[in-house]
Amino acid sequence: MTALSQFLVESGRVSKVLQVRADPENAVASRPVANRDAESVLASSGSRYATCATLERLPDILAEGEPIAVAMKPCDIAAIRNLQAENERARKLIVCTIALFCGTVPSLEASDDFLARRGLTRNDIVEFRWRGHGCPGPTYARTADGREFEGAYREFWVDNHWTTQFRCKICPDAVGLQADIATGDAWPGGWPKGEDDGWNMLIAHTEVGEHLLADCEAAGKIWLEDSDIEFVSDTQPHHVSLRRALAARLAAGRIAGLPEPNFSDLGLNACAAGLDPDTLAKNFAGTLRRIRAGQGDEAVKADYAD
Ligand SMILES: Cc1cc2nc3c(=O)[nH]c(=O)nc-3n(C[C@H](O)[C@H](O)[C@H](O)COP(=O)(O)OP(=O)(O)OC[C@H]3O[C@@H](n4cnc5c(N)ncnc54)[C@H](O)[C@@H]3O)c2cc1C
Repeated sequence: MTALSQFLVESGRVSKVLQVRADPENAVASRPVANRDAESVLASSGSRYATCATLERLPDILAEGEPIAVAMKPCDIAAIRNLQAENERARKLIVCTIALFCGTVPSLEASDDFLARRGLTRNDIVEFRWRGHGCPGPTYARTADGREFEGAYREFWVDNHWTTQFRCKICPDAVGLQADIATGDAWPGGWPKGEDDGWNMLIAHTEVGEHLLADCEAAGKIWLEDSDIEFVSDTQPHHVSLRRALAARLAAGRIAGLPEPNFSDLGLNACAAGLDPDTLAKNFAGTLRRIRAGQGDEAVKADYAD
């Protein structure tokens, strides 16, 4: 996403890319930024597994009247598409969207726990990266007096709990179907087997995305290899399960009397057709149970690591 975003600003196709970066005043917090050059795009690299008011500056940025790109989570891009459906300025000025595959946005509880295991609190640190110095790279914290702390990717996602929001459990498009380009990790089996050279999976969903990938490769900014849907599914087992189970989860919400989101054109019924009845029933019952328990954030561990 950094390479594509840098290409977009450097080639003059957009005046800025709307992204997310660490809050300079609070190392675990994130804030949206509109980056105008390659250097600031680079400073916004790295997955920030925490909530952020990603689009709060969008109206002001659109008011500047310049073409922009947005490189964020799928739900951010869904909001952009909904805005574009009714707002001509948004249609005209947001010329490219890039979404990362998103398993969920945890609360900061797991990050606080990571720090606490090292005798630290948020107040002690000036830099925090969930990953990023490498692929996946270790979780990393740096204190104001220069002490550095690291933890394995596994420590964060498998050995300890993190939280997931109920809304992410009924997310119809966690894989960026609505973006011009969607990107994910390219780890066979869905889990890193160590560090790699920084490969990503890229899917162009539109002609805008397809041309951007081709132009970016022609300019020597990225290197593309062909892949296929089997590879995508193998690297994203949790997204395959979610897409298949979603119709059952939404049905549970409907029966429990929740207002039903209107999801069209996302292929949910076709996905549900591949689900065995037992799993379908389990997802239906599990969702009803969660709704009755109040839909709060839920502590989970990744269950597909080797
Ligand atoms: C919340 C979250 C969940 C993820 N879940 C999955 C998953 O299920 N499967 C998978 O394969 N990969 C997942 N990833 C990783 C993601 O797919 C990769 O980071 C993506 O492929 C981009 O990699 P990159 O190296 O090109 O990103 P980089 O070049 O490092 O760029 C990262 C981009 O993401 C933006 N960004 C970072 N954090 C946030 C945030 N919290 N909100 C909005 N935008 C943000 C940055 O602004 C930047 O534009 C997740 C990342 C995040 C932040």
